[in-house]
Amino acid sequence: MMFAADRMLGRLAKWLRILGYDSVYCNTLSDDRFLALADQGRILLTRNTRLVGKVPPDRLVFIEANNPRAQLRELIGILGLRPNPDKFFSRCTICNGTLMPAKPEDVVGEVPEHVWIAHHRFSRCKTCKKIYWPGSHHMRSRQEIRRALGV
Ligand SMILES: [Zn+2]
Repeated sequence: MMFAADRMLGRLAKWLRILGYDSVYCNTLSDDRFLALADQGRILLTRNTRLVGKVPPDRLVFIEANNPRAQLRELIGILGLRPNPDKFFSRCTICNGTLMPAKPEDVVGEVPEHVWIAHHRFSRCKTCKKIYWPGSHHMRSRQEIRRALGV
């Protein structure tokens, strides 16, 4: 399932990326360009009541909650999503690109030395080249994910 989040839902989009969902977010997108993303098979996530009814109802979810974690739980409840732990941390939170495993020798000099010494597994965003390591996803942990999901 792929998503596109409107400009008020940037933090929800980041959470969805952490869970491994392909989630477009751009805070400069016009309403028309945003609505057009539904034609690409994406489900639009919005807090903008004016957009309701502009695309087929199964292509849009109106999010009522204010808090990103509550928004996430709301979305999961509405769509009956079952996030797959195998997909967690498989996407870049910055650009939505997919992450590829990287060897320590491939990232030497590109991460802080104390990080390089402490970790053996790294991954790199295919698109923006940002490097991740366990715990680097904006300091999100699996425990925090479980809390956010309310499980
Ligand atoms: Zn990236």
